[in-house]
Amino acid sequence: MKRVLLKLSGEALAGEKKTGFDEATVIEVAKQIREISKEGLEIGIVIGGGNFWRGRTSETIDRNKADQIGMLATVMNCIYVSDICRYLGMKTQIYTPFVCGAFTDLYSKDAVEESFAQGKIVFFAGGTGHPYFSTDTATVLRAVEIEAEAILLAKAVDGIYDSDPKTNPNAVKYDEISIEEVVAKKLAAMDLTASIMCMEQKMPMLVFALDEKDSIINTVHGKFTGTKVTV
Ligand code: UDP
Repeated sequence: MKRVLLKLSGEALAGEKKTGFDEATVIEVAKQIREISKEGLEIGIVIGGGNFWRGRTSETIDRNKADQIGMLATVMNCIYVSDICRYLGMKTQIYTPFVCGAFTDLYSKDAVEESFAQGKIVFFAGGTGHPYFSTDTATVLRAVEIEAEAILLAKAVDGIYDSDPKTNPNAVKYDEISIEEVVAKKLAAMDLTASIMCMEQKMPMLVFALDEKDSIINTVHGKFTGTKVTV
């Protein structure tokens, strides 16, 4: 692979704490990013916002505003992870689909290509810039736009199961599954809008657990133990 889009959930940055940032956890992830980047892989990164805020869970404020807060949470996450990457010697650039002052740059495909050419890790913060979407949708959108070969979906679970492994001890994990089946069975890899876009745009996906040691590196090196979603 030459270019991938890595999706990290917001919760993944929080470690055991479940909210905010856990520096040791993020440093571990960033070291893996450095390793695969050194090997010449171009890496785009989308990060969720769940460690700070989930728009749809607010019952008081307007959904549009709640989602704006969610999108800003993803900006904070990208600034944090980007700076940890810089601390470890990497060059990074953060793009948002809306103006965020001097904190980030405005997204454009051309600007992203330039950043990749300069050897930078590219962060796509702020989701799609629109309410009623998710960072899963933003992941597929950006992956398609930047012509990534695959989405690396790092999750709390180690792949896609036929039912929720947290509640069903007999849940069976798929080693490989087609995106059509993921959509037809509404399997919980990504939200449905994002899965449908993956299907329509024929974007393959590798789903694996972030908390397994070196799982990002192993996935890129073909030592993959998660679920491969074929198109
Ligand atoms: N969000 C949004 N539009 C986007 C991406 C994210 O409105 O394009 C908001 C939404 O409120 C979401 C929050 O940002 O709940 C955090 O994103 P994430 O995808 O992590 O949400 P989750 O699915 O974890 O709730």
